[in-house]
Amino acid sequence: MAKKKAPTQRDVRCYHCGHEHVIAARASRVSCPKCAKSLLVEDVTIKSTEGWAHFKTCGRVTIMARGKLVAQTIEAQGGIEVRGGLEAKSYRGGPVLLKKSAVWRGDCEAPSLAIEAGARVDRGWFVITAPSQEEVEPVEDSA
Ligand SMILES: [Zn+2]
Repeated sequence: MAKKKAPTQRDVRCYHCGHEHVIAARASRVSCPKCAKSLLVEDVTIKSTEGWAHFKTCGRVTIMARGKLVAQTIEAQGGIEVRGGLEAKSYRGGPVLLKKSAVWRGDCEAPSLAIEAGARVDRGWFVITAPSQEEVEPVEDSA
């Protein structure tokens, strides 16, 4: 994956209002400059069973083999890697990777999906969307 931004900053999109803005790369929690609501922007690792009503982060989620994430809705803009369990009404966000020990239950809306042999999907309605053309930036010729 090509990195276009300097590593000190990154783009996030507010999961409350959709406002896109730039934050410090190391920030873990920020306030949206538009709606002023608190945003979790860090990468999250789930190591045990965690229950949430609505689990949201602008970062990436990793569910370890002994971990399980139970929530009504899960949103991980940076994507999700599942080695343990996921049980949700719906997931949306970045690319989904199901490792061989994963057990997935829930609807899924993501730009891509990879499933290792051995992973289980017990139920779910999957929509895998390719990124829209507007998000593909033209290649700049620096010659
Ligand atoms: Zn906002």
